[in-house]
Amino acid sequence: MIYDAVIVGSGPAGVFAAMELVEHGKKVVIIDKGRVIRERKCPITEGKSSVCLNCDSCSIVSGWGGAGSASDGKLTLTTGFGGNLEENIGEDALLDLIEHVDKMFVKFGADNHAYEPSAEVARATIRKASAVGLKILPARIRHIGTDASREVLNAMYEFLEPQCDILMNTFVEELVVEGGRAAGVRLADGTVLRGHDVILAPGREGASWLAGVVEKLKFPIASMPVDIGVRVEVPDSVCEDLTKDFYEVKCLYNTPTFDDRCRTFCMNPSGFVVYEYNKGHDLVTVNGHSLKGVKSRNTNFAILVTKNFTQPFSDPIGYATHIAKLANMLAGGGILLQRLGDLRDGRRSTASRIERGMITPTAAAEPGDLSLVLPHRYLTDIVEFLDALNTILPGVNQNDTLLYGVEIKLYSLRLQLGKDLSVPVYDHLYLAGDGAGVSRGIIQAAASGVVAARAILQQKSC
Ligand SMILES: Cc1cc2nc3c(=O)[nH]c(=O)nc-3n(C[C@H](O)[C@H](O)[C@H](O)COP(=O)(O)OP(=O)(O)OC[C@H]3O[C@@H](n4cnc5c(N)ncnc54)[C@H](O)[C@@H]3O)c2cc1C
Repeated sequence: MIYDAVIVGSGPAGVFAAMELVEHGKKVVIIDKGRVIRERKCPITEGKSSVCLNCDSCSIVSGWGGAGSASDGKLTLTTGFGGNLEENIGEDALLDLIEHVDKMFVKFGADNHAYEPSAEVARATIRKASAVGLKILPARIRHIGTDASREVLNAMYEFLEPQCDILMNTFVEELVVEGGRAAGVRLADGTVLRGHDVILAPGREGASWLAGVVEKLKFPIASMPVDIGVRVEVPDSVCEDLTKDFYEVKCLYNTPTFDDRCRTFCMNPSGFVVYEYNKGHDLVTVNGHSLKGVKSRNTNFAILVTKNFTQPFSDPIGYATHIAKLANMLAGGGILLQRLGDLRDGRRSTASRIERGMITPTAAAEPGDLSLVLPHRYLTDIVEFLDALNTILPGVNQNDTLLYGVEIKLYSLRLQLGKDLSVPVYDHLYLAGDGAGVSRGIIQAAASGVVAARAILQQKSC
């Protein structure tokens, strides 16, 4: 059998591509190495373990719905965040797609309420922030809703399941290319699934797998930034003046010492810091999410430093994973935790110093010293950013603020793709989502899947 489309990855990019294609009667197969929603259970978030057990398939990042589907997902409904899709399709087309994807989420059960600061609150915050060089990007955010995330994704599964083939717990070994075009994929057991078109949407978790495909087939690479940083945890009270209006404060900063671009990322009011196990690289990094019913008293968010490297360096993923592995090495296989005050004082954190502090960590992490892991440049950027952020989040740079390390984003392989996300050198091949560096969040990942699907639908011969 030859499918109209073979889709690798059942994250938002893969799922939305499939929904678009089946709506037009196409024969589709979706393949994912992870589990179906009901079997996606992280021993830590289920309260069965306090440490990462390195499960065969990490339920936090892998499986139906893709990364983060155990959380209560925030949908960023504004261009300028969550990815680079605008560079491929332009702002107007992206806005249309955001609206389309958002409506689909609501249709499948997402909460109807969206957060948006009033013009007055946004103006006042922007004014205050700009005085210290912070750029605030007010965004419209839909919070899919407490526990609704899994239900929404499950509803999408039940919608698609009768209309296409879904292979979960199935690892795609490689892309099959014949005569200059994508012809299908080869599974781990050697089975070849043939398709007229192939969409690769393996997410950040599959970024290293995609890097292997890219290297083998020599795809053109556009640019290679790498995001490295820490997850910050503070009491809700530090952020709630802003999070009640913005839900998530998106902020950019060029640091005074190194002129590096830093940003806040993925803010979770009353949320939890979580482990992200990257099996491909055999490492654990840090992330954050919020949950239904179970609320913490802390807000967490990432501070990420984005760096572009110059030739001859060509391995940003290798660089970032090297740093993450250092943290794992010093933390006995997990993640490191340090009080900001200890970092500033040039000493490691200890369990008793953290216990005496005013913030109870929401993740089990090893007290230690991030200065043994992160290069001086990154640490300086992070400390300077926290000082500036204190203007709009008073208390964020206090000594007890917790820093977990490290957080890295492995969507650093940014491929040169056409407007329709096609790969220029191979026909019938499309890349979508975080893994290809197109998106950095649910909405743009889903939108990129729709772009690839529509390109397939527009082909005359399909
Ligand atoms: C804890 C956490 C919380 C998050 N919260 C939010 C949020 O609130 N809002 C937001 O916008 N974003 C959030 N994100 C980010 C968001 O989840 C991603 O941006 C989005 O899921 C990317 O979609 P994607 O389709 O590109 O890839 P993914 O969702 O990563 O899905 C890719 C899928 O491909 C599969 N795969 C990879 N390689 C292979 C292979 N070789 N064979 C078979 N299958 C493969 C993986 O198992 C995975 O299921 C969060 C992420 C995490 C980890």
